[in-house]
Amino acid sequence: MPESILVLTHADETGSSLARSSLEVVTAGKELAARLNAPLMIGILAVDPISAARSLAIADARVLGVSGDAFMQAHYATDAAACEALCRSAGATIVLAPQTSRMARVAAGVAHRLGGSIDTHITSIKGDEGIEASRWFYRQRIEAVAIRSTRPWLLLLECGAYPAFESEAADVIVEHVAVELPAIRTAVTGTCAPAHGAQTIRPDAKMLFVAGAGWTKKQPDGQTHAAEAGDLILGFLQKTGASLGSSKSLVDQGGDGQPVLPFLTHMNQVGQTGSTPRHPKGLATCCHGEEPHVVGWRFIPERRAISLDPNCGWARGKADVVYIADAFKVMAKVNELLSAKP
Ligand SMILES: Cc1cc2nc3c(=O)[nH]c(=O)nc-3n(C[C@H](O)[C@H](O)[C@H](O)COP(=O)(O)OP(=O)(O)OC[C@H]3O[C@@H](n4cnc5c(N)ncnc54)[C@H](O)[C@@H]3O)c2cc1C
Repeated sequence: MPESILVLTHADETGSSLARSSLEVVTAGKELAARLNAPLMIGILAVDPISAARSLAIADARVLGVSGDAFMQAHYATDAAACEALCRSAGATIVLAPQTSRMARVAAGVAHRLGGSIDTHITSIKGDEGIEASRWFYRQRIEAVAIRSTRPWLLLLECGAYPAFESEAADVIVEHVAVELPAIRTAVTGTCAPAHGAQTIRPDAKMLFVAGAGWTKKQPDGQTHAAEAGDLILGFLQKTGASLGSSKSLVDQGGDGQPVLPFLTHMNQVGQTGSTPRHPKGLATCCHGEEPHVVGWRFIPERRAISLDPNCGWARGKADVVYIADAFKVMAKVNELLSAKP
C-alpha cells in the first residue's frame, strides 16, 4: 500500500506561529516523504493557522488547518477533535507529530479513534524500504526499532531529534478543516509560573551546566563554601541562559544534612535515575563523571568538564576537554569575563 504522510503541528503560545518542535517534525516529514516518494501534508492546530503556515512557504506540502479561539489553550476534548479531523481529512497512512505535552496528551486517543497504532518517544525514522522507527528504553541504554503494518501509524518524535525546518516567511494556501467541537467543561483562568529567571531548567538552552557534589565539599582551606558556590553558579546561569543540571550526589545532600544549594531539586538531576536532556554543549563542574551520571549525557555532543581529579570519569574518555582545575577559580574568572562583555 503506498504511504502518504501527515505532519501534525501546533502553534506556540502566540496561537499564530508554529512551535519549534513542530518545525522539527516538518523536517522529519520532508525527509521521509522524499525517501518514500510519498505525498506530504501538514496539518496545523492553531488559533490562526494562516499566520502559522507562513513558516512553511517552501515546505512543498499540502497544508490543512483548523482554526479558532478554542485552540488557544490545550484542552483534551478540543485538541483530540481537531487532530482527528485533520487526520481524517488528510487520510494519511503515517502521522508524525512532536512529543510535546500538548500532542502527547491526545495522540493515543486520536490513534484509537482512527483505529490505528501509535509509538511515542521516537528519535529517528529510517529504513531502506519501509519505515523503521527507533526509540530508547531503560534510560537510553537499549535502542528498539519498531516496524508496524497497522495504518494509520502515529509517531511522536522527541524534541531536538531533527533540525527545525527553516523557510522565508510567505503566504501559503491553507485548506480549512471543519471540526465539530465537543462541549468544553473547563476554562483556563490564568497561569502560575516561577518568576522570570527563577526557572533553572531550560530545555531550549544552548548549554547544559552541571553542578556536582564537589561544590559543597570541603575545599583545600578545610572549609565548605556553599554560599559562594551558589553565587558563582547562579551568576553563570544568569549571564549565559544555560540550563542547570546536577549530579545525584549533590541533589541528595539536602536529606543528608550537608550544605546544600537551595535552588537545586531532584528535577535538576541528570543521569540514569534522572533526566537525559538535549543541549548542543555541556559543562560539568565539580562532578566526578561516573557512568550512572554520564549516561544522562547521551544527547550532549560537545562536552567539557572542570574537576580537581585528573583521574575522574570525564578524563577517561567521557569529555572532549577536561580542565584539571579548581572550579571556584575557573568560574569566578569566567563570570568576570562574561560581565566585561559588552
Ligand atoms: C543505581 C544508581 C543510579 C544512579 N543514578 C544517578 C543519576 O541519575 N545521576 C547521577 O548524577 N548519579 C547517579 N548515581 C550516582 C553516581 O554513581 C555518582 O555517585 C554521582 O554521580 C557522583 O556525583 P558527583 O560526581 O557530583 O560527586 P563526587 O563523586 O563526590 O565527586 C565530586 C567531584 O568534585 C571534584 N571537586 C571537588 N572540589 C572541586 C573544585 N573546587 N573544583 C573542581 N572539582 C572539584 C572532586 O575531585 C570530585 O571528582 C547513581 C548510582 C546508582 C548506584
